[in-house]
Amino acid sequence: MRLLTIILILIHSNLLSQICVTDEYNKPFIDSNPKKYRLVEENLQNYHKSKTNSEIVIPIVFHIVWINRIQNLHDSVIYQQVEILNEIFNTQNTDTVNLTDTLKNWVGNFNIRFEMAYRDPNGLPTTGITRKKTINPHFSYWNDPVKKPHYGVAPWPTDKYLNIWVCDLNDDLMGYAQFPGGPDETDGVVIDWQSVGNQIYPWIPLKYYEWSRGKVLAHEIGHWLNLFHPWGNTYSGCGEDHIPETHLQKNPIYPERNCPDTLFSECQDSGRLFIKHYMDYAGSSCMVCFTKNQVLRGLASLHTYRSELINNYIPQIAISGFENTKIYPTFVEDKIYFEFPEYEDKIEILFFNLQGQLLKKSTVENKWFHLIYPYELVPGFYLINIYHNNIKVFSQKILKNP
Ligand SMILES: [Zn+2]
Repeated sequence: MRLLTIILILIHSNLLSQICVTDEYNKPFIDSNPKKYRLVEENLQNYHKSKTNSEIVIPIVFHIVWINRIQNLHDSVIYQQVEILNEIFNTQNTDTVNLTDTLKNWVGNFNIRFEMAYRDPNGLPTTGITRKKTINPHFSYWNDPVKKPHYGVAPWPTDKYLNIWVCDLNDDLMGYAQFPGGPDETDGVVIDWQSVGNQIYPWIPLKYYEWSRGKVLAHEIGHWLNLFHPWGNTYSGCGEDHIPETHLQKNPIYPERNCPDTLFSECQDSGRLFIKHYMDYAGSSCMVCFTKNQVLRGLASLHTYRSELINNYIPQIAISGFENTKIYPTFVEDKIYFEFPEYEDKIEILFFNLQGQLLKKSTVENKWFHLIYPYELVPGFYLINIYHNNIKVFSQKILKNP
């Protein structure tokens, strides 16, 4: 009987595993800690869900583990992905027009902002992206080699950062995530490099077109926030995802179904299925929202199991005497003036675009006044950050005029 069960699991997981292996990945943890996961679920059900939904900032770090140079994604692809995530987790995406008026009432807003880590675990300035050339051509979810130093990269402290590993996953897998309650040393999300950002690569299999536009990572972060697939984290379907409005669902809905609005549950539940959310497999043109109860469940899991991540966040604000720093003018023509408080060692001036990309760096030593000609910056908004002893002490936005 046990053998038959294993065979059935393998057959079924093989069908589903081509997209997301989160259920397979978490199964050993859940099976070996049933009490713990029951408690995780009970705590979520009892969580007082009326808590105010103020903005939450989650620092993220991307570990790019590559073997072919093309997999070593450019910073701009990562920034584009983060921009997409921030649209999705703040309901600023415009494709919700695909929803009927009734479904629009069920859209939830996480009000989460993902911010590229600006300081690494040693307190040093960072772009929030690490890169490692590996000797492993493809990565499996089994044993998590991408999260270990030999082939991959160990996570940054998971109570301070959401770790996202980007690599070439086996068998055209797109990603997997760890549910709350798993080991700290593996917490985070793994995503195939071809699913990151809004790139369409001409050589990739058709399925990557169907699940493109940066939405695979939204799906995986949904899992990281303890959202299940709408068929539940079971192999037989009709499992509980604890989201009333999605109703019990037997199977994934794939892109070829074109996410119909009138599909009804085939389980012991005659409700109409809510397909157009990020946690099904309906394809990027159908995956347009998180539902209200998905948001409540995700926020409950964040506040209950990953509260350190919220509490440890240090905003990039001025500290010490540097609040008196002056940077002017705000509308820059050809030069920018800097006035610093008294100090005796060196400080660094870093220019970022609004996507967080470092564009210009300048070091100043024992001067209270400094002048920069930002010729190389194209017109637009920029963020100037001042660092002292590797700690950001002042920040100001400027507009470079045409
Ligand atoms: Zn999934």
